[in-house]
Amino acid sequence: MKYHDSVEKSAEHLGHALLLMAKQAAAMHPVSFAVWYEYVAGGNPALNAAIDKLLQNGAVLDEKLTYDLYDKHVAEINEQVAQQFSDGFQRVLAEMSSSAAQAGDQAGQYGNALEEWCTKQSSSNPGANHNVNSILGLTRNMQGSIVSLKGRLDESRNEIENLRELVGKAREDALTDGLTGLTNRRGFDVELAACLSAADSGLCGPTLLMADIDHFKQVNDTYGHVFGDKVIQAVAQIMKNNVKGENRSARYGGEEFVVLLPNTSTVDACQLAEMIRTDFERVRIRHSLDNWVPANFSVSLGVASYKAGELAADFVARADVALYASKKEGRNRVTVAKG
Ligand code: GH3
Ligand code: MG
Ligand code: MG
Repeated sequence: MKYHDSVEKSAEHLGHALLLMAKQAAAMHPVSFAVWYEYVAGGNPALNAAIDKLLQNGAVLDEKLTYDLYDKHVAEINEQVAQQFSDGFQRVLAEMSSSAAQAGDQAGQYGNALEEWCTKQSSSNPGANHNVNSILGLTRNMQGSIVSLKGRLDESRNEIENLRELVGKAREDALTDGLTGLTNRRGFDVELAACLSAADSGLCGPTLLMADIDHFKQVNDTYGHVFGDKVIQAVAQIMKNNVKGENRSARYGGEEFVVLLPNTSTVDACQLAEMIRTDFERVRIRHSLDNWVPANFSVSLGVASYKAGELAADFVARADVALYASKKEGRNRVTVAKG
């Protein structure tokens, strides 16, 4: 963990960072928060030296300077920390907004009392009214400014919330395959690493299936690439239908798929592989409006069960070798990797 500040301390840093950020030209986005939080927290001397030098030279930090500082001095910040920034910042803004609302109410009450007093006085002392009216005008102005400050703070909170959603969505997109909606290879690698770090290699898994569509180049050559895409989507649908719960399926590459079964024996994994294989044999895909392509697709599979201490890459390679054996033996079959 990079940051160890308490909630109170971090809120204090964020408040301070907010004041500094407000003086810059760059927008108040999470990259700015990160740079200025680090600056006020003081744990990143190189960043502070770089910012101090810029400020001494009279620079105002624009988007480019802010991003450069971020890339150079803060970039290793992890997602969890970014989330903490965002949460902390939201909290500070919410508190400021609530203080502004209170201040606005008090200014309003003060203005009302002043107005009432002014009305009562007007009959007995008409000369005093001029001064009181100007104080009343100033009070109303102050109340207006506070209300608009509260509005801006609320807008900032909404903006941060939107940004947070965008970041979450972008992250999800980066780990999802666009054609099939399955997890992509990057996402799968993350899931596999997490699964293996939690695995104690019991009798039941983790087990890995690797599947590759047979003669897919020929399918593309015969029916066209768009049709080929539909075939890939059909396999993905079979995966979605058959792989549930804690089990994970992914599109590993072009026409290659993987299934990770954290707590499944080799025998049960082979049963699932058989199910996928036979489901795919039955697939029929519409080629054009009145033309269904005959069900002559097939997929070959390899099954490997995890060996204690094995590297993820070696585990995947064993499943791949088993898959290759299925190809060599004539395709459209399931092969279990040697232990
Ligand atoms: P094998 O039975 O040995 O696996 O033969 P194969 O023809 O399936 O294997 P090969 O690796 O020669 O061909 C894979 C083909 O998959 C080549 C590539 O053009 C095609 N492919 C990869 N990604 C996509 C895709 O997203 N859409 C389509 N339509 N084709 C793809
Ligand atoms: Mg292939
Ligand atoms: Mg293939």
